[in-house]
Amino acid sequence: MRIYFVGPGGTRHLIAKQPPGFGTGGFYVEPFNYYIDPGPAALYKALRMGINPEKIKALIVTHHHLDHTGDMLAMIEAITKTEKKVPLITTSLVYEERIDDYHKNLVMYRHFSEWSRAIPVKHGTECFGVLLEEEKRLLYTSDTTYEKGMFPDVDAVIGNVVVFRDSQSGKHLSLDSFINLIQDTGAKIAFVAHFSPPLLYRLQEIKERIESETDAKAIIAREGLIYDL
Ligand SMILES: [Zn+2]
Repeated sequence: MRIYFVGPGGTRHLIAKQPPGFGTGGFYVEPFNYYIDPGPAALYKALRMGINPEKIKALIVTHHHLDHTGDMLAMIEAITKTEKKVPLITTSLVYEERIDDYHKNLVMYRHFSEWSRAIPVKHGTECFGVLLEEEKRLLYTSDTTYEKGMFPDVDAVIGNVVVFRDSQSGKHLSLDSFINLIQDTGAKIAFVAHFSPPLLYRLQEIKERIESETDAKAIIAREGLIYDL
């Protein structure tokens, strides 16, 4: 499968600053042609990466926070230019409160609980991770805290890591937890995404820590990265 990291950044700080390489926008995965978490600037950046919105087969929006939904309506319009409706897999809060009637008419809404690739996670609001399988298994954590047993064994994981330690984490994945998650799931490739300003200044250290404490190769997800898994 091929992963397009369109805008791997998250949190309100990265929405506001859009630091080069680490702005918001979500990602796209072939051959499923799923677009996942279209945060602010998703459409602009996706077009510049050569992604044709009309080829997107489903929009996956894991929860209602702005860094995951900001460009959702623009993306819906771009995908449905040729009058078809696009499947939208998401939470009830996203569907009820983030989409007006006009755009509701352009989607086929499916609650994530009815989708076999969704894994419910713990973000203090309705939210889910995504498990994609095609020769290899790729897990996307979305925003969540971590407990052992939450996720199955996988080959690769995209982790939304926002803080270093669990005590700072609130409702997000810490680097400590992400390392536990990598060990528990046996992932051999670990993409670090989402970030927050403190993490952005210590990317090399984060990569080295993951690689010294797990068997995984750590990859810092940057805007424009296309990775064949
Ligand atoms: Zn969130």
